[in-house]
Amino acid sequence: MTGLDDLPLRDDLRGSTPYGAPQKPVRIQLNVNENTHPVPDEVVNHVTAAVERAVRSVNRYPDREFTELREHLAAYLSDSEPSHPVTPEQVWAANGSNEVIQHVLQAFGGPGRRMLGFPPTYSMHSIIAAGTGTEWVTAHRDAEFRITPETAVAAIEREQPDIVVLCAPNNPTGTPLGLETIAAAYDATDGIVLVDEAYAEFMPAGHASALSLLPGRPRLAVSRTMSKAFAFAGARLGYLAADPALIDALRLVRLPYHLSAITQAAAVAALQQAPAMLATVEAIRAQRDRLLVELPTLGYSPHESWANFVLFGGVHDPRATFEYLLANDIIIRDVGLAQHLRVTAGTEAETSEFLDVLAKMPR
Ligand code: PMP
Repeated sequence: MTGLDDLPLRDDLRGSTPYGAPQKPVRIQLNVNENTHPVPDEVVNHVTAAVERAVRSVNRYPDREFTELREHLAAYLSDSEPSHPVTPEQVWAANGSNEVIQHVLQAFGGPGRRMLGFPPTYSMHSIIAAGTGTEWVTAHRDAEFRITPETAVAAIEREQPDIVVLCAPNNPTGTPLGLETIAAAYDATDGIVLVDEAYAEFMPAGHASALSLLPGRPRLAVSRTMSKAFAFAGARLGYLAADPALIDALRLVRLPYHLSAITQAAAVAALQQAPAMLATVEAIRAQRDRLLVELPTLGYSPHESWANFVLFGGVHDPRATFEYLLANDIIIRDVGLAQHLRVTAGTEAETSEFLDVLAKMPR
């Protein structure tokens, strides 16, 4: 049988492993930080009607500039951060924020260039670096997975990266990131600072996002996604806000018509229903906070989280605990950190069942 070693694969990809969150047909899926609430009926109807209209002209290529979608995304971001409105010229989008991040690396990374990250962090950052031939360099976090301005600046001075990626809040730890760290990182580099805000909507109300730092910082990019709070993971729509010149750089590397007419129509329709799509965010935050309170009563040590998941320590045997939950029709995530597991905050019923099953685990 042919193996990878038999193929003329790029040398720098030999020995690497693909992204591999297990996909299993389990009743309670709390492993990839989706919004687990069903899509509301009124949204289903609205999106379906929009997609039907789009299908009538799929004989034509879609709007390469996804103009209407950029207008809706700019309006959505401006609503969420009214003191720092974003214009459509400052918005980019692609098939998931993974593709948005890939565009950033294609334009600003690549062979001979390096990206600095702070593990444990989102595993795709290093995988996208590998795929684009960008060297992935790392620096340690402080206690409790935090990054102070001093830590970030010291790492940037040491590594001299072309791109710095900061995940805020961080996956898989849930750790918040202060705006002062982002600003200090920006001042310490001539490169791109990419802030991955996939979980921004779960941050405490009133906390400013990195969007507020965009004015006057043309090398700063803030990526977001409709996959998490927005309950739209299956539609694949991620986006980014930055200076219009940075957006122009991404146009150099995108494939023409990368966002299908169906994706564009569905995303615009979902954004028109933003309040309904986001109605569950408060309930999800409440379940996250409940996990933070109840896991310690079971002997585990959860870490502070501003996202829709909780990383918890004190797990004697993560593999065995994962398998035990799986045998009970619940899947969570082993993120490869010693004595830790990560669980998504689901519906109240899902969270209750997870906690009940975990409490009954023979230890
Ligand atoms: N960034 C972070 C921090 C994530 O956790 C994820 C999804 N797990 C993504 C980006 C990518 O999400 P998507 O491609 O669905 O937008």
